[in-house]
Amino acid sequence: MTMDLDNSYAKLPEGFHARVEPATSAAPSLLAWNTDLAVELGLDSLAGDEVELARIFSGASRPAGIRPIALAYAGHQFGHFVPQLGDGRAALLGEVVTDAGRRFDIQLKGSGRTPYSRGGDGKSWLGPVLREYILSEAMHHLGIPTTRALAAVATGESVFRETALPGAVFTRVASSHLRVGTFEYFAARGNTDALRTLTDYAIARHYPEARSEAQPTVAFFRRVAERQAELVAGWMAVGFIHGVMNTDNTAISGETLDYGPAAFLDEFQFRKVFSSIDHQGRYAYANQMPIAQWNLARLAETLLLLCDARSEFETILSEFSVHYESCYLERMRPKLGLIQEDDGDADLIGDWLKYLQDHALDYTLSFRELATRIDTSDPARFGEFEGRWRQRVVDQAAELTEVRARMNSVNPVFIPRNHRIEQAIQEAVAGNLTTFRDLNKVLAHPFVEQPEYAQYAAAPIPSQRVTQTFCGT
Ligand code: AMP
Ligand code: MG
Repeated sequence: MTMDLDNSYAKLPEGFHARVEPATSAAPSLLAWNTDLAVELGLDSLAGDEVELARIFSGASRPAGIRPIALAYAGHQFGHFVPQLGDGRAALLGEVVTDAGRRFDIQLKGSGRTPYSRGGDGKSWLGPVLREYILSEAMHHLGIPTTRALAAVATGESVFRETALPGAVFTRVASSHLRVGTFEYFAARGNTDALRTLTDYAIARHYPEARSEAQPTVAFFRRVAERQAELVAGWMAVGFIHGVMNTDNTAISGETLDYGPAAFLDEFQFRKVFSSIDHQGRYAYANQMPIAQWNLARLAETLLLLCDARSEFETILSEFSVHYESCYLERMRPKLGLIQEDDGDADLIGDWLKYLQDHALDYTLSFRELATRIDTSDPARFGEFEGRWRQRVVDQAAELTEVRARMNSVNPVFIPRNHRIEQAIQEAVAGNLTTFRDLNKVLAHPFVEQPEYAQYAAAPIPSQRVTQTFCGT
């Protein structure tokens, strides 16, 4: 089987990456293949031969000309700088360039040790693979920038964590794997030549328009900051908590990267944390905007080695929260049916969230329910807030049926709920992929009522609730 991949990153100087040999497994089997994405990438010719797909996307078989690499990076983890991280369990097979000229990394995750593995085994078990598969595809269908899932393969071998667990490999598609931590890697070594090369590469790959500006590096930083603001606003609007917003998990492209302990809110809570290792709530739901800003400040520090533009960087950083606020309002207004802008909108949105928190209401379901309350005279479901909101919505020059339809077009019925992901994983470990497949199917159309799958829309009952998530190692 042939797969025509470029690898522009492999052409960068030596210190940027290291050659890796993905581990081979004797009897890999295909758990999932994303046909639609394969078509978008022009990789659909691979489909059909499931045995060969399982071999390629577990690392057991290597199409001619493919020379996998692991990428070097550093990162601030929970605020502490680690000068050497890198792809410890991932192998970049290469890059697809689509007919439209867009370039995407094809990366195996969980394919074995690399020179950056430190003490780890470079492997992954089935749980994190299925989790990232479901979450990243759901995120895409919710309209939020993210890496994607092309394939999941069971290796047929055991991975040892606390117990023996079934091993698996995930194939991730990303518009690149450049992170804030990649810049920190070279900055920490004082290697300004490499940092310049990296910045030029990042600009060419993601923000080529920056090249024609007076200060391309500043323009680059501004674009990265804008994309982060848009990204975090998107997360907040769907109730997503990334969980481990370290600088090595902050993509320069503005895509959601790394779904370790990531989770969606059920009942609304500003301070919600799922990750088992986030004891201080550093990456709590409502902290994501200031953390993104903090991560951007780390990026700015590296770029200062290349250009003397401290005040420009500071201005961009201080404008970040303003830009974020406008992205956030742009996402939240239609969720509440606020079609014409009003100065009081931010307060109204804040009041709504406070109401949800005070009454421990489900974030996702409450928006759908609010849409049904638009023209009712029944007693209020959402207390005093409801009347105020209805007045605001009715005062607009818009038909109420139209407002409701617009609310429903941006408020998902289905999100990848934690307890369903856990269920899908537990069943898959026992050899049953039904829930995993159902979830992917349902979440491909998150805004559409699918009554036959109502159980996936429902909030967890107390006994189903998942309160903690774990890093995907
Ligand atoms: P993450 O928290 O998933 O973003 O991973 C942080 C760092 O730990 C990255 O450098 C990973 O490559 C590395 N890592 C995570 N799991 C493993 C593993 N099983 N083996 C080797 N390295 C790992
Ligand atoms: Mg990571």
